[in-house]
Amino acid sequence: MSIYCGALYLFVEAMQSIYGTIKNNIRNYCMTTLLHDHFLCYKRDFPSANSIIVQGPQPILIDTGFITDKDRTEQFLKEAGVQPHKLYCVVNTHAHSDHVGGNHWLQSTFDIPIAAHVWSASAINRRAHEVCSAEWLDQPVLAYHVNNILHEADEISTGAVRLTVLHTPAHTLDHIVLYDRDSQTLIAGDVLQQGDIGWLNPFHEGTSTLDRAIEVLECLAILPLRAVFGGHGSIMTNPDELIRESLRRYSSWLHHPEKMAWHAMKRIFAYALLIRNGIKETFVREYLQNTLWLKDYSTHVFRTDIKNLAEEVVKEMLRSGAAEWRIQSDHPQERVLCATVRYNACEDAELSRMFAPAVLAPFLPKHWYDQSKRSQ
Ligand SMILES: [Zn+2]
Repeated sequence: MSIYCGALYLFVEAMQSIYGTIKNNIRNYCMTTLLHDHFLCYKRDFPSANSIIVQGPQPILIDTGFITDKDRTEQFLKEAGVQPHKLYCVVNTHAHSDHVGGNHWLQSTFDIPIAAHVWSASAINRRAHEVCSAEWLDQPVLAYHVNNILHEADEISTGAVRLTVLHTPAHTLDHIVLYDRDSQTLIAGDVLQQGDIGWLNPFHEGTSTLDRAIEVLECLAILPLRAVFGGHGSIMTNPDELIRESLRRYSSWLHHPEKMAWHAMKRIFAYALLIRNGIKETFVREYLQNTLWLKDYSTHVFRTDIKNLAEEVVKEMLRSGAAEWRIQSDHPQERVLCATVRYNACEDAELSRMFAPAVLAPFLPKHWYDQSKRSQ
């Protein structure tokens, strides 16, 4: 049993004995009241991840969406009765761009502290090129600084809810979930999703990432759970079934690395199509051939020429219905490859400009300005 799984097991053992009586009492409460008294979820469409407010005298915000969702986040906070400057802190489940995109705005405007797991915190703070996997994925992330470094079994209290940090290193090495033992609620980030499973990246998270993903789910399966807030999609009230199905899908990849690769590549490319509002037909193959992720998959998984793989990726996106050719009214002579999932297009003209590949670089971590003085 790994260190993190062992710690989780001991934690559950202790919790089950201490909270056995409370647990029985909880069953008598109205579920809706129990689940929603202190948790408010903003369910976003792609390319953004959900945000969750955990209420209390010291309210916290878990994950901040994609950078284009700043205004929607502000509205969500205000409608929940939380003035942004009153937030106690932001907690990130992990550092992917769709979960940390609002960090810069909340920190630079309201001086809100950011909390993240120790396995990415120091790298983010020293501006390591590949934090957030931003260059590899070709996704913009605005600079931020991690003020509060989290470890396994740390507790974060809002004054009304006490959340326990559980380290779940699979989808990313820095991934954490947050567990409220009283309401048996889990904030799961990308570990659990309704109708999908978190994509896995062996190039950044290690070749054993699939084994760890299975182990993480086996550990979560021993937690008493009534509700799960995932990073994407609606609240999940069938956690046992969901964990079983996720385990089944991950296990089916154990002897088929190419399936894991296709699952990841389709999600990464769909995401690129979403944040750019589609990519023109004349540019799409060149775009793919210049991404670091496709270079890795062509070299290490498929052992094929990157041009061939780029062609196959476009074909597979069309075949599976994940993407389609569209004609845009301002350029009727040229087709654009667009993702088909429901999403929130970027409404901010200034931010939209950053998604042109030529200007994306300034928003990658290697170009972040040094804001270390902010942490003093
Ligand atoms: Zn993620």
